[in-house]
Amino acid sequence: MQLDIPTLLVLATANLFVLSLALLALMGRHTTSPTRCAQLAVAMHMLGGVLAMAASYNWQTAWGTLAVAAFGCGQWLLHRALGGWLGHRARLSPTRKRPRRRGPQDWLSYRWATRCMLVLVPAVPVGYALGWDNPGFQMAWSQVGLAAMLLLVARATLFPLRAAGRDWRWLLCACLVGMAMLLLARAAAGALLAERVLQLFNLLLALAVNVVSLVATLALLAAWRDEAKARLRSLAMTDGLTGLLNRRGWEERAEGLFANAQRYQQPMTLMMLDIDHFKRINDTHGHEVGDMALKLFARLLRESRRTGDLVGRLGGEEFCIVLANTHKSACYGFDQRLRSVLSQRAEQELGFPLDFSAGVAVLKDGDGTLTGLLARADAALYEAKRQGRGRLLQSEGGMGQTVI
Ligand code: GH3
Ligand code: MG
Ligand code: MG
Repeated sequence: MQLDIPTLLVLATANLFVLSLALLALMGRHTTSPTRCAQLAVAMHMLGGVLAMAASYNWQTAWGTLAVAAFGCGQWLLHRALGGWLGHRARLSPTRKRPRRRGPQDWLSYRWATRCMLVLVPAVPVGYALGWDNPGFQMAWSQVGLAAMLLLVARATLFPLRAAGRDWRWLLCACLVGMAMLLLARAAAGALLAERVLQLFNLLLALAVNVVSLVATLALLAAWRDEAKARLRSLAMTDGLTGLLNRRGWEERAEGLFANAQRYQQPMTLMMLDIDHFKRINDTHGHEVGDMALKLFARLLRESRRTGDLVGRLGGEEFCIVLANTHKSACYGFDQRLRSVLSQRAEQELGFPLDFSAGVAVLKDGDGTLTGLLARADAALYEAKRQGRGRLLQSEGGMGQTVI
């Protein structure tokens, strides 16, 4: 069998064409930004292949420049897709700057990789076009430039080390590094004018493009599947109306906090809150205004908590918050803050007052489960309602409740 380089390149481009259509069919048109970037990345590589073939017939510099630009854009889109999937881009947004130990990912951060890509993506085709009278330079320049981009994208697949999706990340990384090494070796063979070695690398590259496009697309599909799974999981844990954790999500996270507090003997306070006479609000102002009241209450709860506190909507007009690493005095402060902001904002935003009752339970030595703590907070809440609403009561466990 004769392995002919042009035939292999035509095959690779045809593969990429089919793969782009397959990705569009499988992932759909209305999808997330990282997934769209991945779809476009495959399509860009296909376009690059078509332009590279056109360059081998005539107008080598013009078509070649466009081909290099298309490959560069493909790498940029892949970089963006990985940034979205692996959370690099979320971390670029200005959030709290907490000092932390520097890890291997800081060696070349995603931010720096992005800046390098922004320089390389236009510089590589421009350099290629400028070397129009020197095909040797054009080859070496474009291959080294594309290899550098591949390595930068490969870097984005590696960190953060502990996040999910290791399998597809390693697979994609291996594809990108493999291609980068082949391009660099080919550029070196070209510079050394080793004609036979150059032919061998041309053949290897043409073969590799076929294999890599297939394997990398499989990795992208696995990344997309992981993203969809994470989205479904988040939906299953979130309350649609308020955006807070729902009972399932809250309980799952609260169990973790409870176990930690027990293991490290840290204080923990659980507070259950229930809006007073909420049914009356629905009956008087309508269900939609009731929903607005719920959203306002959830927003104020979120704004009043400290970092690390866990807020959830357990159902109806009942909310719960774990005040981590907190004694009951801090809980009193939280209650006061929330009451004062609620009385102001409810009048402003809803046009009528909104109040709530709350029950508190503090973690004790004998507490075996979160359910026990929840039951105590619930009992205190019940007592707060019974005593006339609009107040905070603490359960001492078992017998009586004390006002704090
Ligand atoms: P109490 O002071 O004793 O807590 O009385 P309440 O009226 O607040 O409590 P009750 O349990 O009698 O009624 C709760 C109401 O909340 C009944 C239900 O229709 C309403 N509700 C539950 N979920 C929603 C929701 O998502 N939106 C709206 N608008 N109302 C809801
Ligand atoms: Mg109520
Ligand atoms: Mg209720």
